[in-house]
Amino acid sequence: MPDVVHDVVVAGGGPVGLAAALHAHRAGLSVVVREPRTGPIDKACGEGLMPGALAELAALGVHPRGHDLAGIRYLDGSGAGRAATARFTRGPGRGVRRTVLHDALAEQVTAAGIPLDPRPVTAVVDRGDHLLVDGEPTRHLLGADGLHSPVRHLVGLDAPAAGRRRFGLRCHVQQAPWTPYVEVHWSPRAEAYVTPVDDDLVGVAVLAEAGSRFEDLLDDFPVLQERLTGDRTRVRGAGPLRQRSRSRSAGRVLLVGDAGGYVDALTGEGLALGLAQARVAVECLAAGRPERYDRLARRLGLRHELLTHALLRATAHAPVRRRLVPAAARLPWLFDTAVNQLARPVGRPA
Ligand SMILES: Cc1cc2nc3c(=O)[nH]c(=O)nc-3n(C[C@H](O)[C@H](O)[C@H](O)COP(=O)(O)OP(=O)(O)OC[C@H]3O[C@@H](n4cnc5c(N)ncnc54)[C@H](O)[C@@H]3O)c2cc1C
Repeated sequence: MPDVVHDVVVAGGGPVGLAAALHAHRAGLSVVVREPRTGPIDKACGEGLMPGALAELAALGVHPRGHDLAGIRYLDGSGAGRAATARFTRGPGRGVRRTVLHDALAEQVTAAGIPLDPRPVTAVVDRGDHLLVDGEPTRHLLGADGLHSPVRHLVGLDAPAAGRRRFGLRCHVQQAPWTPYVEVHWSPRAEAYVTPVDDDLVGVAVLAEAGSRFEDLLDDFPVLQERLTGDRTRVRGAGPLRQRSRSRSAGRVLLVGDAGGYVDALTGEGLALGLAQARVAVECLAAGRPERYDRLARRLGLRHELLTHALLRATAHAPVRRRLVPAAARLPWLFDTAVNQLARPVGRPA
């Protein structure tokens, strides 16, 4: 094997890539982050850090500023129906602007002396006992390059994604939050997620199938519209949300975060899951057992995938969407259990 330049190249300096780099550094591996965008990096995201995500960040010494979240509240978008509220039983989550999260992670990465290389990863060759990443010998590559992962494509792990093609659109509204909950407003064709992210800032993300403008979708939510009194930022989008990989590993290449596949933003667990995958992927590399990662990653995501798929399938039908909030209000124990299953730390002892 030629002299490797790095033990690990991380493709992508989003939250999962930066967390993976910190784990690798802690495990004594030499690591570089390849990220073409300059920070602080923003992205269309609901920005609700579930308690599990906060625990992963805290374990890395990362404590981003934000607004505490007491739990999740479902509301009928028309304002006519009831509301259902579930509190997080293991302590709060936190609404955190993506730019604030990026800065908090990047600060730790810089303090650890981990180099950031502004070139995107564009070529990967597997030479058996090492990889050539854009011609440079390296031991391992972590693909943390997001929903449309070029690394996933380069190493032949793309898989077709069936089902509804949903997209996310998000803006911020300059005003004090009116609730300590992530509010999920349901309409017949869309959901609006309201996340307090600071003392004077509220995020609004709308999830729906392709073809509608953010402003038109917001018209489905008259009560929410009335609440939104502050100045609005420009709208960012992401999607299609559903992405699949054939496996989360191919030899010395492991996929972490959205790069390894994504179901939907409906249940807000993307960051908790991605941060846990980053930790477990590096544990596998440090133990010299990259082949274990795919199975462990599947196990990490199982609970979330089952719940998200079930909710997605059920809410594809208009009558179910209409009855969802009243049903959650009538069965508070069930709603509470589902929310707290999703909020539970991922792959750590309960
Ligand atoms: C509308 C919406 C709402 C959401 N709400 C929530 C929520 O409330 N809570 C939650 O936990 N999750 C939520 N999610 C999911 C969450 O945003 C993702 O799970 C999370 O951003 C994944 O992080 P990541 O680091 O894997 O990918 P990303 O954040 O997408 O980062 C990937 C990085 O890779 C870089 N990159 C791309 N190509 C290359 C390349 N060739 N070489 C090097 N770098 C490259 C990109 O520039 C980018 O910076 C939501 C998602 C959407 C779309």
